[in-house]
Amino acid sequence: MELYNLKKNQQRVNFSQAVKLGLGDNQGLFFPTSVPVLNDIDGLLNQDFVSRSVTILDAWLGEELGSDNVETMVRNAFNFPLAVSSVNAQTYALELTHGPTLAFKDFGARFMAQCLNLLCKNEKATILTATSGDTGAAVAHAFFGLDNIDVAVLYPKGKISVLQEKLFCTLGGNIHTYAVNGSFDDCQQLVKDSFDDLELKTAIRLNSANSINISRLLAQICYFFEAVAKVPVAKRDNLVISVPSGNFGDLTAGLLAKAMGLPVKRFVAATNENDTVPRYLESGLWQPQPTIATRANAMDVSAPNNWPRIEELIKVQGWDKSLVTGVKVTEDQMSQGLKDLYAQGYLCEPHGAIAAFALNNELTDDETGIFLCTAHPAKFQESVEDILAIELTLPQPLADVADKTILSQEINADFSQLRQQLMAI
Ligand SMILES: *Cc1c(COP(=O)(O)O)cnc(C)c1O
Repeated sequence: MELYNLKKNQQRVNFSQAVKLGLGDNQGLFFPTSVPVLNDIDGLLNQDFVSRSVTILDAWLGEELGSDNVETMVRNAFNFPLAVSSVNAQTYALELTHGPTLAFKDFGARFMAQCLNLLCKNEKATILTATSGDTGAAVAHAFFGLDNIDVAVLYPKGKISVLQEKLFCTLGGNIHTYAVNGSFDDCQQLVKDSFDDLELKTAIRLNSANSINISRLLAQICYFFEAVAKVPVAKRDNLVISVPSGNFGDLTAGLLAKAMGLPVKRFVAATNENDTVPRYLESGLWQPQPTIATRANAMDVSAPNNWPRIEELIKVQGWDKSLVTGVKVTEDQMSQGLKDLYAQGYLCEPHGAIAAFALNNELTDDETGIFLCTAHPAKFQESVEDILAIELTLPQPLADVADKTILSQEINADFSQLRQQLMAI
């Protein structure tokens, strides 16, 4: 697999290099030179999730890593279930919430851990990642206990749910967590600054596990195929997929799935009040505003890192811009969406409710909609209990950490302070 740097097109790397580097020169994102197109999509959709995912990822990586390796990595990474539920006659929910940390981030993080394990045998590395809530947990769990790899996670202090925080800040060992006095965008900037510091980068062999890492995006392509596979054949003609979006990795993966041949008519990019993309799609102006804290905190991103990949993909595929509709969902609309789902017998949480609300507003009579459920309702226990006036029981992974002590260090959004911490790991 060959990739080029979106900010410096002459920088070309293979997949292994892109995974290890994370970002290219000038903080440019890596983008595939070509997308493999799958034939016999119908046959593929008839397969089970893991076998189909082996085929999908083999098309990207088999030549470079060896098909046997790809198969082993996929089977190790995707060792937990996913589900598609029917919400009403026209709408389905793709549940990506049944992994070890109860959010879709488990798919990408676990596959990335498999990749690094294969590519960095016996080399020391430090994974530095910023999280708006769920990436931290997924990455920390995927790498916890590995001998050669340290993980450093930055998150905005007080801006993620307590249970989200407990899932990854109570592990200790090779997992180091930093509560940053600032926003998620500040955390992302600290990660970028760290990668710009060549001395630091070499000293601790820095690697990123953000959704900018191509290995995570490729893994996420697989569940878009599963969503379509579970919709009855008679309803597959006019499919619309609604993606609750923050950093826009998930939507990038969905569009890559379409480029590989998945029959999706269009996508809805649903955001919370951090609506840089919906405003951009409307006006053509890219104007990030200060980040607003919402109940769908994993989507509190005002400068989404993956957007340039989406623009590039739309351009090289020659797609019409109308393929992606941006919809901003306010806090009140999110609550309404959550209540509407509950009234239909479906328990969701703020992120999924945003996608469902946006879909509901967008869908025409001749279309079938799928929205992504990106986190387990219990991970947002307080909001869900408050909005729906119900009580939730905690699933095992959360019950296990509820009483544990948070081990994070508090730092300011100040690169020199972070640098000192990282050098001391
Ligand atoms: C990360 C996350 C999102 C946003 O996904 P992106 O790929 O960053 O757009 C949405 N919902 C939940 C629960 C998340 O953890």
